[in-house]
Amino acid sequence: MKLSLVVPCYNEEGNIELFYQEVKKYFKDKIFSYEIIFVNDGSQDHTSQKLLYLHHQHPEDTKIIQFSRNFGKEAAILAGLEKSNGDYVSIIDADLQQSPKYVVDMVNFLDEHEEYDSVAAYQKVRKENKVMVFLKDKFYKIINKMTEVEISHSASDFRTLRRNVVETIKGLPERCRFSKGIFAWVGYNTYLMPYVVDKRASGESKWSFTQLFTYAMDGIIAFSTKPLTISVILGVIMFCLSVFLFLYILISKFVFLSVIHSFVVIIGIILFVSGIQLFSVGILGQYLAKTYTEAKHRPIYIIKDYIDRED
Ligand code: UDP
Ligand code: MG
Repeated sequence: MKLSLVVPCYNEEGNIELFYQEVKKYFKDKIFSYEIIFVNDGSQDHTSQKLLYLHHQHPEDTKIIQFSRNFGKEAAILAGLEKSNGDYVSIIDADLQQSPKYVVDMVNFLDEHEEYDSVAAYQKVRKENKVMVFLKDKFYKIINKMTEVEISHSASDFRTLRRNVVETIKGLPERCRFSKGIFAWVGYNTYLMPYVVDKRASGESKWSFTQLFTYAMDGIIAFSTKPLTISVILGVIMFCLSVFLFLYILISKFVFLSVIHSFVVIIGIILFVSGIQLFSVGILGQYLAKTYTEAKHRPIYIIKDYIDRED
């Protein structure tokens, strides 16, 4: 049995060596054979040099993929999966927030449970700030209402997959990749394993609030067309409201003979209509933008350099 570890790295110079040592520590005598595939996602610090040095010291169990620029973690994960050849593949962060000791548990679990195809780690106790936890919970509620697949609530992309799952994921060609959605969409039997997230060993998180928001929007748009339906429903509601308003004005004027300040009514109607229109056009635009991105058929990432002893 062979295990491939896929490790996306973006500005992780302080963690590379530590990560390797941790893996060594936990994998010693435990797993038959393994390879670590580091994907340098266009880091601007010394990650590249650290990786080359590490490979120079340990060519037997490391592979290095270097992107030509930063393509994002999702692209890095895909590149790693494509170069992996293990029977099992684990996706794990480089910052040691996800300890390699859980990988051993995941592999043991898959060994003992043939009926499962993948193991996903989830945080039983969330160590983020309360606002973030609240927003993320709401996001998953919304996305699960809108999509036909169940995207598990707290499961991370820290997971171990059997080869058949990896091959299926490799076959999905989309450019806008929302991996939690992809993992859910491909199906298979996934076991949720609790884990405790550690503090970052070095450096800082790359996710700002705006990036997380964009990621969430991308996720919904990649896996659901319901927002388009919402804009249609809003349009219908709008139409009904305007009919009622029209009736109200007619009845007030001709039955009760009351005076209506027309400018108030007009401003109200204009604001309402233009709000809904902008909202709907915005949603449409998002889908169009994604279609445009997909239609260009650009590669998901560009490999500048690939180092593997076998090649
Ligand atoms: N990462 C990456 N490309 C990016 C951003 C992040 O490969 O554009 C990697 C990063 O090096 C780390 C993992 O993705 O190994 C998770 O990133 P981070 O720790 O910033 O996210 P968080 O743990 O805060 O969710
Ligand atoms: Mg992290």
